[in-house]
Amino acid sequence: MTVGRFAPSPSGRMHLGNLFAGLMAWCSVRAAGGEMVLRMEDLDPQRTNSAFADWIRRDLERFGLDWDREVPCQSTRTAAYDAAFARLDVMGLIYPCYCSRSQVHAASAPHLGQSEFVYAGTCRNLTTGERSAQKRLPAWRLRVPDEVWEVCDGLQGRYAELLSRDCGDFVIRRADGVYAYQLAVVVDDADNGVTQVVRGRDLLASTPRQMYLFSLLRHRAPEYYHVPLLLAPDGRRLSKRDGDLDLRALLERFSPERILGTLAFSAGLLEKNEPISAAELATVFHWNKVRRDDIKLTL
Ligand code: GLU
Repeated sequence: MTVGRFAPSPSGRMHLGNLFAGLMAWCSVRAAGGEMVLRMEDLDPQRTNSAFADWIRRDLERFGLDWDREVPCQSTRTAAYDAAFARLDVMGLIYPCYCSRSQVHAASAPHLGQSEFVYAGTCRNLTTGERSAQKRLPAWRLRVPDEVWEVCDGLQGRYAELLSRDCGDFVIRRADGVYAYQLAVVVDDADNGVTQVVRGRDLLASTPRQMYLFSLLRHRAPEYYHVPLLLAPDGRRLSKRDGDLDLRALLERFSPERILGTLAFSAGLLEKNEPISAAELATVFHWNKVRRDDIKLTL
């Protein structure tokens, strides 16, 4: 059976781009007669809170995007991440990194355009003596091999990375102890029985390393569909900063069906821009209708 998920980060209210990715995930699962899981990705206690999680649940409901099971949020799952960390450690794949730029934001998913850099490996081969001489608390990185990992994305086609060159050893736990998105998302998708991941195209570049992590943890990777990003009429990517396109403002002007209709039409799922409910949309949904390129949106 297909098991899909909504995995929002409750660091703000949803914007239209989040809604679009959620809509595609939901339609895909419902069209396949599968199960939908809701998981709040609240890894970073400083950036997320339960009030935003409540808003997100309400917004999803308002658009008719329901779920069959809500799984424990990430802030309660430290024991599961500890266990995965220990397994990788036993394999000799983790090392402490004392560099000052150890990605303070590792707990949040790295979205396109954010400065992600390939780590040079400075702390990869420190001796025990060199480690104990360090003053700061380390972040923890996973060693990546000189291997190509490739995803056959259901929408974007093939995307491959030579992990050592294109990704580099990446942070799986921050110096303050918070686990990184990259580890948590894999452990959770595995434990939640997720078989299909639908999310924004900006996370395509995180997929080869996540597939590598799945294999290390002896779990089959899900199938992936990376959906287009929504762009403002001037070509900018929508973000939580675009107040005028946040859902609260939009719902004051338009009905949920009108918003869904515009999203579905812009994505290639409808011939005309007309209001539609999520349930109706699921009956006409098919991946081969969905466009791959980013979408300029006019409401
Ligand atoms: N929680 C992530 C975000 O909102 C999504 C991660 C994922 O779908 O893998 O950016």
